[in-house]
Amino acid sequence: MKKVHVIGGGLAGPEAALQAASLGCEVTLFEMRPHRSTEAHQTSDFAELVCSNSLKSESENSAPWLLKQEMRRAGSFLLKEADASAVPAGHALAVDRIEFSRRVADAIAAHPRITVVREEVTALSEDADHITVLASGPLTSPALAGELQRLTGSDQLAFYDSIAPIVDASTIDMEKVYFAARWDKGTADYINCPFTKEEYEAFLEALLAAEKVASKDWEKPQYFEACLPIDELARRGRDTLRFGPMKPAGLTNPKTGRWPYACVQLRQENLRADSYNLVGFQNHMKYGDQAKVLRMIPGLENAKFLRYGQIHRNTYINSPAVLNDTLQLKAHPSILIAGQLSGVEGYTESIAGGLLAGRFAAMLARGEQLATPPRQTAHGSLLHYITHSEAKGFQPANITFDLLPPLEDELRKKIRDKKERHRIQCERALGAWGEWLAAEKSLLPA
Ligand code: FAD
Repeated sequence: MKKVHVIGGGLAGPEAALQAASLGCEVTLFEMRPHRSTEAHQTSDFAELVCSNSLKSESENSAPWLLKQEMRRAGSFLLKEADASAVPAGHALAVDRIEFSRRVADAIAAHPRITVVREEVTALSEDADHITVLASGPLTSPALAGELQRLTGSDQLAFYDSIAPIVDASTIDMEKVYFAARWDKGTADYINCPFTKEEYEAFLEALLAAEKVASKDWEKPQYFEACLPIDELARRGRDTLRFGPMKPAGLTNPKTGRWPYACVQLRQENLRADSYNLVGFQNHMKYGDQAKVLRMIPGLENAKFLRYGQIHRNTYINSPAVLNDTLQLKAHPSILIAGQLSGVEGYTESIAGGLLAGRFAAMLARGEQLATPPRQTAHGSLLHYITHSEAKGFQPANITFDLLPPLEDELRKKIRDKKERHRIQCERALGAWGEWLAAEKSLLPA
């Protein structure tokens, strides 16, 4: 049987290592801390939560709950330790981060088939004797990121995340906005929110006055001029936004027959067209202020935001282009990518990625057939998102119902209550997950 090398002792790495070891593989877990740290880690502990201590909602039939339920049923080692380190946090699973890390470290130390090597990995090889799980995270060391670029192609690695806000389509005031394509080129797929001069001036003032999230020093140089946050553009000049993401040129308003003074464009986010993103509206505003300022956009006065804008450093690969649906690099199938580096977003999603990668790596090491989890499941939907999205402009995602397959049209029409629809989606997901786990188990020795 081949050995398994896991690179990264954050969230995905330890889960992958424990999964592969529990399936009988000899595992070497590489972690560069404390010899070399990242800009966000404070300790040399395994499973350090670098920011909040929340693994998100535990409300029954929510998408984060579904993901965690699947993980529990699959025997996620890190989720077990998270449950054991939980602190009161209403409907969320929040943990005592020190206790959580200590428990994960104990589980790794106690496992007879895991060897820990504290060194920075700078080269990736395709040795015949081992399978590699790369889980070096959003702050992968530069040397290793360079190596990954060499293997995948220089344009397949992103170094920061700029996330535009997403709005619930049903909360857009369609009386105030209009569909149009710039210069009438192509189909009129974009929703346009037209500003008068007065509305633009008021929006600009509010944007400039809004409270911003303080970025860490190490994040600042990561901006690309082509993708600046709107608060930075506003700071550069009163008209900069009107020549950038709020450009009105070529967007004739059918009500006036003229171009507006400024315009925000909304682009359809998913096939169901029930959510739209605000094109180019990545920003640094705190969420509370962001809600107030974005609701000054004509047509969005009562908007419900499904996601707020963000911008931060994040290394991730262009998974739809380079990964297959068992997390293997298409061109180097003995290397699997897990965690945030693979284009999932969030602590829980990263652990879930580690769970799958550890199991896939073990199956590969044992020479067994790999089976992707069903599309109905939260794990299957995350995998589907990162491997089947549009490669151009690919951005990481959290688990949401948007990623899960919707109910059939007939059922959707019949069941008006969103909560009930989500309950059915969760029930189906857990059923399919159970079947997948049972089939996988039958392939492996006890
Ligand atoms: P990590 O947990 O970062 O683990 C990667 C590990 O690999 C690290 O221990 C690192 O030291 C090691 N490593 C890197 N390069 C090498 C190398 N060359 N050789 C050996 N080891 C190496 N998500 C949330 O859900 N909530 C939050 O509040 C949140 N806050 C975040 C704040 C910041 C600043 C960042 C960057 C991300 C945040 N995330 C958050 C996103 C994400 O969930 C976390 O980054 C999460 O830790 C990702 O898990 P991971 O296992 O993929 O990577």
